[in-house]
Amino acid sequence: MGLPDAALPDDIAPWGAPGTLARRKTRQAVCAWGDHQVLIGGDAPVVVQSMTNTDTADAIATAIQVKELAQAGSEIVRITVNSPEAAREVPAIREQLDRMGVSVPLCGDFHFNGHKLLTQYPDCAQALSKYRINPGNMGGGKRRDDNFAQMIEVACLHNKPVRIGVNWGSLDQELLAKMMDENSQRSKPLAAQAVMREALVVSAISNAERAEVLGLSGNKIVLSCKVSHVQDLIAVYRELSKRCDYPLHLGLTEAGMGTKGVVASTAALAVLLQEGIGDTIRISLTPEPGGDRCREVVVAQEILQTMGMRAFTPMVIACPGCGRTTSTVFQELADDIQRYLRQQMPLWKAQFSGVESMNVAVMGCVVNGPGESRHANIGISLPGTGEVPAAPVYVDGERTVTLKGEHIAQEFQVIVEQYVQRRYGQGNQNSQ
Ligand code: SF4
Repeated sequence: MGLPDAALPDDIAPWGAPGTLARRKTRQAVCAWGDHQVLIGGDAPVVVQSMTNTDTADAIATAIQVKELAQAGSEIVRITVNSPEAAREVPAIREQLDRMGVSVPLCGDFHFNGHKLLTQYPDCAQALSKYRINPGNMGGGKRRDDNFAQMIEVACLHNKPVRIGVNWGSLDQELLAKMMDENSQRSKPLAAQAVMREALVVSAISNAERAEVLGLSGNKIVLSCKVSHVQDLIAVYRELSKRCDYPLHLGLTEAGMGTKGVVASTAALAVLLQEGIGDTIRISLTPEPGGDRCREVVVAQEILQTMGMRAFTPMVIACPGCGRTTSTVFQELADDIQRYLRQQMPLWKAQFSGVESMNVAVMGCVVNGPGESRHANIGISLPGTGEVPAAPVYVDGERTVTLKGEHIAQEFQVIVEQYVQRRYGQGNQNSQ
């Protein structure tokens, strides 16, 4: 007997069915290249974005990295456009991508001189699918207002959406100073941190409203307010989501390296996504020297997939191992299978509809192995210390074969491949 549905909060489906979390209602922006449209906000799924770290003036290196990020699953890729040399190469990057059959939309990241680059290089403005504008990096006073207006004019001319991206590290100092002054006049002044949070929200919304006054349609605006501390990010986005209905781009800026970057980003984004806040995400990981830039895409996808919001790649469920396992066989098998599934996905995605939702269990011993394996689409329970050296395989909850010997990993991979073809191949959808 389960609990009656009435006992559950309104925005949680019974037993947390995937994709059913309530989302904040927003307008919908379209970021497109040719026929390829990426929808942000409204009823669209949360979009995964990434950013290159190549020199944009090196068109070939940038196009190659954009392609890698797109193949890893990035749905929009941002490139920095920081100089005339970079702006000149943007059309070449776009052409190179088109030649390679990569239609991912490009977003140009502009600071300081964006107004000049977008007006002096119209081919760059046209080749980009979206502009990121940082209102805190456009000078002060009238100069800032004019520069901002010039960028919005270009966006209107080329019919492009913009992200007004406010950042903690480059917050409009005039606005902040004014708000700090006003705060000091209050009978009970707020803490400086609260004023800073408020300034971020005010900066984002007031600039969006100004863009609309300047003629940009409200459904061509996405907002972000990035900060580098988890609690600040959560507080700022909660406030932003209450005060406007523009789609929101989430990301913890300067998240950091390795585990720290992943954990901090996940801690912040998971809270907001769970509350229905966030229409597109980027994970700002600092790669290890020579590290793989695509890791930020994998982390973004895994946050969304483990939260049950989207499915991108079949997931491997593996136990942590313990004293009941004396070898690394099952860790290696789990790693090999996860790698194999990810490698296969570009191919499988085109052929096998629904395969991204598949679960594969790789378990270390008989304690939880058979149970967890039965709950997965396919599972294997490896022998722990002292157990018979055999690995039963479960398919759709039924024990099928038992693998033995040195080639368990290869044989299991073949079973997975056959299962994918049988279960997700064309004409076999009814068997699901
Ligand atoms: S399934 Fe077995 S090996 Fe894995 S953590 Fe549990 S007891 Fe340890």
